[in-house]
Amino acid sequence: MIIVLKDGTTQEDINKIAGWLSRYHVEVCPIVGAETTVLGIVGDTTSIDRNSVYLSEYVDKIIKVQEPYKRANRKMHPEDTTVNVGGVKIGGKRIVVMAGPCSVESGDQIVDIALHIKESGAAVIRGGAWKPRTSPYSFQGLKAEGLDLLNLAKAETGLPIVTEITNPTHVEKFIGKVDCFQVGARNMQNYELLIELGKARIPVLLKRGFSNTLEEFLMSAEYILSGGNENVILCERGIRTNETFTRNTLDISAIPALKKISHLPVIVDPSHASGKAWMVESLSMASIAAGADGLMIEVHNDPENALSDGAQSLTYEMFDNAMKKLKSIAAVLDREL
Ligand code: PEP
Ligand code: MN
Repeated sequence: MIIVLKDGTTQEDINKIAGWLSRYHVEVCPIVGAETTVLGIVGDTTSIDRNSVYLSEYVDKIIKVQEPYKRANRKMHPEDTTVNVGGVKIGGKRIVVMAGPCSVESGDQIVDIALHIKESGAAVIRGGAWKPRTSPYSFQGLKAEGLDLLNLAKAETGLPIVTEITNPTHVEKFIGKVDCFQVGARNMQNYELLIELGKARIPVLLKRGFSNTLEEFLMSAEYILSGGNENVILCERGIRTNETFTRNTLDISAIPALKKISHLPVIVDPSHASGKAWMVESLSMASIAAGADGLMIEVHNDPENALSDGAQSLTYEMFDNAMKKLKSIAAVLDREL
């Protein structure tokens, strides 16, 4: 339920309404916008007396939120949310490109990649330290050492770090070493993990699961938001369809859909969506044209010998060429990159 307040409602009035609503054991989330102030009411709102004279003194209107996602819902928060990842704003005018290898493999590798992607215009370095692989025989990541090597790359370049967390008990060891947690597609419904990340105050880049609907995706975001962590970035990374030519199928329609129904920033990972390096540039252009706030692109110093996802990793040259085209597209859309 959303209570839209009349113009000129003061903080004191808001406190009075919140006090009055406390008897219903609901949570009151005031959202002060440039134009209007609304109160998002989360919880069981069925018994609230809408006709209360006391409420009507300050209330312009009451809107029912039918969707199960409340905090992620744009109705609750009409303006776009921006998320600050180590000083880089995601969800604003600038389209933010996060780039780096699938896996951190060595200090030399991650530092070299960080220097190159920065040169081409990327704003955040990515790289997996804990790798949830389909096969237990595949490279599983450098783990804690990988986190330290990402920090070496950050020290060299100043680029903030996004890296995947797979285990709820790892949150403590990530804090202070990452600027943004990544929740991978395989863990989108790892609710224990989402609950722990909700308690943290570090941004979370939440990837859509292979076979999840947008509503399920937003309900996972809701787990993090309801824990008090408002810094959630949604990432479309391709879904499973009957098509086998590509690794997954990039759901372009998810971008305008999510932007319409949610206020959270939306980015796209064209690398895992396609599984093919030669397709990444086209899908990146399409994603930006469709309204994405950013991209996550896999780039490797030596794709042929990468320990994971080499086939979809761009060389430095490919990444640089793609970034040039993306900059022109951003300009047409009155955005920056
Ligand atoms: C990754 O980013 O390297 C990754 C494993 O992605 P996803 O969770 O989307 O498969
Ligand atoms: Mn990968």
